[in-house]
Amino acid sequence: MNFYPHLVRNVFYPLSLWRRGEGAERAYLREFESSQFISPEEIRAVQWRRLRCLLDHAYKQCPYYHDLFERQGLSPGDFTGLEDLRWLPPLEKSTIQEQRERLVARNWPRHDLIRNQTGGSTGAPVSFYLSTDRKCSRAAATLRHNRWAGWQVGDRVAVLWGAPQDRPSNSWRGRLRAALLREPMWLDTGNISERGLAAFRVTLLRHRPRIIQAYARAAVLFARYLRSRSLTPHRPHALVTSAEVLEAEDRRLLEDVFGCPVFNRYGCREVSVIASECPAHTGMHIMAEGLYLEIETPNGPAVPGEMGTIFVTDLLNHAMPLIRYRIGDLGAWAKGSCPCGRGLPRLERVAGRVTDFLVGVDGRLVSGVFLATYVVANRPSLGQVQIHQQRAGVVTYRIKPGRDFQPASDLDYLRSATRQHLGAEAGVESEIVEELPAEPSGKFLFSRSTVTPEFLVGAK
Ligand SMILES: [Zn+2]
Repeated sequence: MNFYPHLVRNVFYPLSLWRRGEGAERAYLREFESSQFISPEEIRAVQWRRLRCLLDHAYKQCPYYHDLFERQGLSPGDFTGLEDLRWLPPLEKSTIQEQRERLVARNWPRHDLIRNQTGGSTGAPVSFYLSTDRKCSRAAATLRHNRWAGWQVGDRVAVLWGAPQDRPSNSWRGRLRAALLREPMWLDTGNISERGLAAFRVTLLRHRPRIIQAYARAAVLFARYLRSRSLTPHRPHALVTSAEVLEAEDRRLLEDVFGCPVFNRYGCREVSVIASECPAHTGMHIMAEGLYLEIETPNGPAVPGEMGTIFVTDLLNHAMPLIRYRIGDLGAWAKGSCPCGRGLPRLERVAGRVTDFLVGVDGRLVSGVFLATYVVANRPSLGQVQIHQQRAGVVTYRIKPGRDFQPASDLDYLRSATRQHLGAEAGVESEIVEELPAEPSGKFLFSRSTVTPEFLVGAK
């Protein structure tokens, strides 16, 4: 029997939290582990208790919310239940960009404001703050949702994920920490080649991770590659997909190729994990103790099965409250209750975003989410961006400029940053537009490519 995961779980992990002053993570994890099985009514009572407290705090401490309540002729005492939240207008990304400092609580210690930034694949990127306490509750929520897929702290994990800044640092301390805590092995989705995929397959077979976590499109690409070459991959205990939409046919392909269940997940940088699948796979359970979700149609709140606009309220980030935040996705509630017995409400589906891979000059593939996160999001003045590709090595950006857009320097940045990833010879064109049209499906289009990766030409 292998005791190492137990050692990580029970010794190294708690020690590491203690060293970083993030012991609250374990307390939140205990709470979330037990509250997932309370009744839907009890969960709503928890949400209402937290929402009432948040509204009161936001009104008193955040200049933006104080003015908003006043303009609407409301005070926190007027709200008598979760449904009343609809009285407040939604919080738009553009409002966060323009009024970020007025959303921050005046009584919050400046040293406890952790800055973070969205990826930019659902509209213009925004930066925001969260507290250390919220960082802990977010981490605990992620751990709880990981456990639904049979993924425990200390398990070996492989990641098809393009997040250089999320990687363990390369210093000796970073490497030691990664080894002790079993931080994951990575496949860089910012530069995928046939050789890279072949090497990744060998790495997986050698290290045999229990869990593979992936951008959904990256996992599908890897599966198509394996199938086209009739290669047998390592079969993990579970595959956890997120960041991109997972269609039913993608799921079938992944389950078939990797021989394990797929646990899909929906989340974003602003509020971390929003919802994920339990072993019953009947939709995604919401992280409802920390988030209150609304789905709105033009005729009011959506009924189960009906697609509408998702608004999220973060019940636990008091440093910079996000109340009725328009996240940029459409979704639908699931019907009925889940056989797993969890009382957490469920999403049936999320329309999400289109984030096709883009093909570089030399045939390399760059994930759409990767470009959104590491190129577009680094330059908020670009505003909202779509990428179109019809030829390998050439992309066209359609840009709905942000407030501080500077054509010469912003387009210069876009060209050079894109060439860093797609290749020095890549053609980078741009068009300035007034509006970026919505997709008929309700999906948000970030990148679309009609180019087939070279190594999949002729493959099914
Ligand atoms: Zn369930």
